[in-house]
Amino acid sequence: MPDWSREKLMPFEKNFYIEHPSVSQRSEEHVNQYRATHDCKVFGTSVPKPVESFEEASFPSYVLKEVAAAGFKTPTPIQSQGWPMALSGRDVVGIAETGSGKTLAYVLPAIVHINAQPLLQPGDGPIVLILAPTRELAIQIQQECNKFGASSRIKNTCLYGGVPRGPQIRELQKGVEIAICTPGRLIDMLESGKTNLRRVTYLVMDEADRMLDMGFEPQIRKIVEQIRPDRQTLMWSATWPKEVQALARDYLHDYIQVNIGSMELSASHNVTQIIDICSESEKRSKLVRYLEKIMDERDHKTIIFTGTKKMADDITRFLRQDGFSALAIHGDKKQTERDWVMSEFKNGRAPVLIATDVAARGLDVKDIKHVVNFDFPNNIEDYVHRIGRTGRARTKGTAYTLFTAENCKQARDLIGILEEAKQDIDPRLRDFARVGGSGGGSRYGSGGGRSGGYGGGRSGGYGGGGGYGRGSGSSSSSRYNPYSRY
Ligand code: AMP
Repeated sequence: MPDWSREKLMPFEKNFYIEHPSVSQRSEEHVNQYRATHDCKVFGTSVPKPVESFEEASFPSYVLKEVAAAGFKTPTPIQSQGWPMALSGRDVVGIAETGSGKTLAYVLPAIVHINAQPLLQPGDGPIVLILAPTRELAIQIQQECNKFGASSRIKNTCLYGGVPRGPQIRELQKGVEIAICTPGRLIDMLESGKTNLRRVTYLVMDEADRMLDMGFEPQIRKIVEQIRPDRQTLMWSATWPKEVQALARDYLHDYIQVNIGSMELSASHNVTQIIDICSESEKRSKLVRYLEKIMDERDHKTIIFTGTKKMADDITRFLRQDGFSALAIHGDKKQTERDWVMSEFKNGRAPVLIATDVAARGLDVKDIKHVVNFDFPNNIEDYVHRIGRTGRARTKGTAYTLFTAENCKQARDLIGILEEAKQDIDPRLRDFARVGGSGGGSRYGSGGGRSGGYGGGRSGGYGGGGGYGRGSGSSSSSRYNPYSRY
């Protein structure tokens, strides 16, 4: 680890924000009203006012042209508030879900940042480093970087485990301004001298909560400590548990924070939630009946969640035998196969995807209309995350959940989610709740209480998540991988 007090660091530019005159003119009252309407809360010192249009964000014309070409009408709330925060060079914490537009909230300021830095020299590593928990998310981020960075000829690469290193090394050697990495593969590349972090001045940690859930904390710390301390750091997370707060405290300086949406755990109100109480032996025939009904509809893209990789494979085989075009994605599949499965699902040739939680993390497929929980997840937050795969971008969706007596420990948490979203509740679920007690698998605590600090983080800690093995090495091949069943 470098001794930063002894290094002579070249100064660099990180504040690019010029407040647009129409933003300056807005009163405090107007700004408060705008934030309230968009369910946006801010914390910290001198937080800039939100912008209400792309033009107000003071992006250069080459960025605005790309936004116009993408056909976007207005910034999403995380972009309205996040752009001025990020462009002003401050360290930023953003609490927002995948699907909220958060990728562009940090990618567009990253492009501005890169264009203001000296050109890369041979042997230089990236200027912008984006850490992400999974290959799927890394690839989605890369797609946004490709779309919006092309006009300024910004090159990027994606580094993730599970695929040969050769092509990734060759891309690094050509020189890239943006590296989007899962922590394990990046450490591998750093340790073998294939890249370095000496030029990194803009660091993004995306889905920080997921990275910690997956046991990446030691790797994250190892990486961040190799980056100059006066960098700009942006940390994104869907939730704000104390572990994420600790990471922010350790690596961000005088940060400003934006929270989008309610900090209580709640399900998307665009999703109709149907809980089907049944026995284990009824599950397969119920699944087939649901799918037959769904396949008659015009939009029939469906994701089915199972508890284990083995079950994902069993169900896939079972459905294929029954004539459904079903494909599976889980942690044992090779990257090339996962990519192929995702493209078959996205283009609709295989409208039924069977997935485990780990493989489905961060998936952004726009037109999924149905989610089926074949197995109930281990904790209620995964339930909310799963059903959030549908009903995205203001569309409607339906989530079917097969719930058995074995899941009775989750009944109370589930009722809380259903009540909040004003869904019908089967009285038998209430009976289960009485016998099952509290699930305790949720890190939110059953009262959804809040601890102090910025943004009222959730108390309760990680209910069921303790004791994960934290091996080094890449995310999926580590023999300590706590998710090997998924
Ligand atoms: P993300 O939360 O970054 O995963 O974004 C979800 C999806 O919304 C991506 O497909 C983006 O391309 C899209 N998106 C991002 N910003 C906007 C916007 N301002 N208007 C409409 N769609 C957007």
